Amino acid sequence: MIGVGARKTHGFGSGWGAALLVAALAVVIALSPPAQAADGVAKGDSHLAFAARIAGDQMRTRVVIDFESEPSYSVHYLDDPARVIIDLPETIFGFDDDALEPRGLFRAIRYGAMGPGRSRMVLSAVGPVELEMMTVEPREDGRGHRLVFDAVATSDRRFAELVSQQDWQPTGSTAQGDEVVDTNGPTGRKPFTIVLDPGHGGIDTGARGQAGTEEKDVTLAFAKAIAAELATFENIRVVLTREDDRFIPLAGRVRIARQHEADLMMSVHADSIRLPDIRGATVYTLSDKASDRMAAELARQENSVDELAGVAATEETADVADILMDLTRRETQVFSIGLARSVLDSLRGEIRLINNAHRFAGFSVLRAHDVPSLLVELGYLSNRQDERLLNDPAWRQQTARLLAKAIQHFREQIYTAAKDL
Ligand SMILES: [Zn+2]
Repeated sequence: MIGVGARKTHGFGSGWGAALLVAALAVVIALSPPAQAADGVAKGDSHLAFAARIAGDQMRTRVVIDFESEPSYSVHYLDDPARVIIDLPETIFGFDDDALEPRGLFRAIRYGAMGPGRSRMVLSAVGPVELEMMTVEPREDGRGHRLVFDAVATSDRRFAELVSQQDWQPTGSTAQGDEVVDTNGPTGRKPFTIVLDPGHGGIDTGARGQAGTEEKDVTLAFAKAIAAELATFENIRVVLTREDDRFIPLAGRVRIARQHEADLMMSVHADSIRLPDIRGATVYTLSDKASDRMAAELARQENSVDELAGVAATEETADVADILMDLTRRETQVFSIGLARSVLDSLRGEIRLINNAHRFAGFSVLRAHDVPSLLVELGYLSNRQDERLLNDPAWRQQTARLLAKAIQHFREQIYTAAKDL
C-alpha cells in the first residue's frame, strides 16, 4: 500500500506528494473499516477516492471513481498528444494502483496532487477523444458518490475544436493546441477519405495457406497496392490502419476510421475456410443476421482475433439501442451496400468471384455506425490456386486497380446524388 501511494503522487513531482502521502495513509488507515467512513469529507478537507475501475474498448471507454464525499470537477483537453485533464479538489487516491490499468481509449493514466487544495488526473489517449457523458451521482449503497465518465473516439477535427474552444490554460505550459488541423485544403472541401484496413497483423497472423502464406502479409501488400492506385485520383486521402506488421484490436481499427472522418472503410482479408474447393472473392457488409452459414462462421472467426491476441473482451455498449444512432446506421448500411455493389461490378468478369459474392454478417470491424464499411475477401488461402494468385504481384496490381476504380465510382455516385438533392 505504501509503495502504491508513493508511485501515484510521484507523477506531478510536487512536494505536496509526500505530504499528501502521509495524509493518505492516515486517512486510508482511519477509514479502512467501512463503518467509520460515514462522515463524508476526509480529514483535512481532502476527498477520498476509495475505489476505481475502467472498462471498454477503443471506441468507448468508461471510468468510474468512488468518492467518500461528493467531488466537484472540471474537464479540459490537451493536444499533442491527446489528453483529458480532470481537475478535482484535493483528493487522496486510496484505490489500488492496478484499478485504473490503462485500456481502451487510454494508454496512460496518472493522478496526484497539484498544490494546496487541488488534485488532477491526466488521461493520455490513443487518439482524439471526447467525454460524451460525465456525472457525479450518489452510490446505490449510500456510501459516498460516484464520478462516472464515458470517453468516445472522435475525429481529429472535433478534438481540435474541443481544445481551442475551452477557456483554459494549463498551468505552467505553453503547449496549447492553436495549431488547428485544417483538413479542408485550399478548395475548402474535405478530401474524400478512405481508410484501408489490412486485416490481422503482429501476433495475429490470420489464415495460413498450404504453401505457408500468412494472411497478414497478403492483406498488407494489397492495402498498399490499393493505396498506390487511389493516389492517382484527385482530392482523395488514404489512411491505412497499419503500415507494418503490428497488432491492432478491432475497435482500434474502427476508431481510426472515426478519427479521420472516413467517407468509407475497406477491410481487406484472405481467409481460409473448411472447404478447400471454395475460391474467389467475396464482399461482406455488416448485418445482425448472417446471410448464410459460411458468412456467420467467418465473422465468428474474424471477431475472435482480439481474444487470440489477449485483448480483454468488450462488454456490450449501451449505445446499441440508441434510436438516432440506429437511423444513422441504417443510412450507412444503404451506402455500404451501394459500395459493395460498386466493388462487385468492378470485379465481375475480371477476377473470379464466389457464388452470391455479396454476403452479410456481424463483423466487429464494420461496426462504425457512421462510416460506410465493407470487408473484402480477396480469395481463400485454403485453396491452392487462390493462394498462388494472392502471392502473384501482377494479380495483386490488377485487383488493386479494380478496387480503386470501384471506390472512385462510388465517390462519383455520392457526389452526383448530393448535387441532385
Ligand atoms: Zn481475415
